[in-house]
Amino acid sequence: MGAEIPSARPVTEPLPPNAFEAAPYRRGTFRNASGRATHGLAGALRWLLTRTRGPWPTHVEDVPVAPPVARVDDGSIRATVIGHATVLVQVDGLNILTDPVMSARIGPTPWTGPKRVRPPAVPFELIPPIDVVLLSHDHYDHLDRPTLRQLVQRDNPQVLTGLRVGAKVPSKNVVELNWWDSHSICEGVTATYVPAEHFSGRGLFDRDKSLWGGFVLETPHGKVFFAGDTAKGQHFRAIRERFGPMTLSLLPIGAYAPRWFMENVHMDPDEALQASLTLESQTSLAIHFATFNLADDAYDAPTHALARAVQHLDGMPPGADFRVLPFGEAAIVRLGEGHEAAARRRYA
Ligand SMILES: [Zn+2]
Repeated sequence: MGAEIPSARPVTEPLPPNAFEAAPYRRGTFRNASGRATHGLAGALRWLLTRTRGPWPTHVEDVPVAPPVARVDDGSIRATVIGHATVLVQVDGLNILTDPVMSARIGPTPWTGPKRVRPPAVPFELIPPIDVVLLSHDHYDHLDRPTLRQLVQRDNPQVLTGLRVGAKVPSKNVVELNWWDSHSICEGVTATYVPAEHFSGRGLFDRDKSLWGGFVLETPHGKVFFAGDTAKGQHFRAIRERFGPMTLSLLPIGAYAPRWFMENVHMDPDEALQASLTLESQTSLAIHFATFNLADDAYDAPTHALARAVQHLDGMPPGADFRVLPFGEAAIVRLGEGHEAAARRRYA
């Protein structure tokens, strides 16, 4: 009997036929590519009535760090987590800010909604001039009108976002994109809006009427993926297939409990780790935790669970890491050719 020749090729099912299509849109609302629906009002009510909240501090004071440099043009990618999903990405002389939220509270009015437990790690006046804002979707913890107004007044950055989000953005310099639409930021730098598994809406009457997604930035110094807000899904494989291995991925790890309610909208840390492996990300950076108390996971649960998941894996694959950095501290990433080549070999 001949021995079976082991295959180095990872066994993967084919991607769903709609993996690279624009966002499904029917009767005025967008859908997830998977067709998965998120919980409606009844589910939300059940959660609110049965929830057991993990403990959170009311105020966390970070050790001050050196403010970000004005520009980065030394061939590296620099990412500074300012808080929650707000990340300053500096590359190729460009300053890009993801989902800028500096407000003390996020909600329909200044006196409603969750309060932030830690001030922004970089105060607004120390954020260098912003050229481009990447806005993933319209939820209050991602689209903060007061912060956007301040940014528009100071820098008038170009705002890239999903279809139908523009009306909620206090700027005239907005470009709306469907999934897989690309926009050239400048020569050599392109942003593509990519799918996420999530939902949208800021009130009772705009549920799923605007699009949600993430962004891939292609730059001369590597590829940056900002996942936005997302559950696990096949979109990570599609993104890997379209763009190749990521140099830097900004992946959400918090607001995941209880799973029965949150699993359709937010990844847990283990799923975020799986996503980083699927993306063959050289460096992944944890975001969306320890800033706003949005779900039932305790303040420090996401980072502990991520550490456990990495341990369970027996460490990260060679050339890859998943970092949880102190807020305000910059991750400096240089495109590792060894990593790209290894990733390409593993996948080919
Ligand atoms: Zn959201």
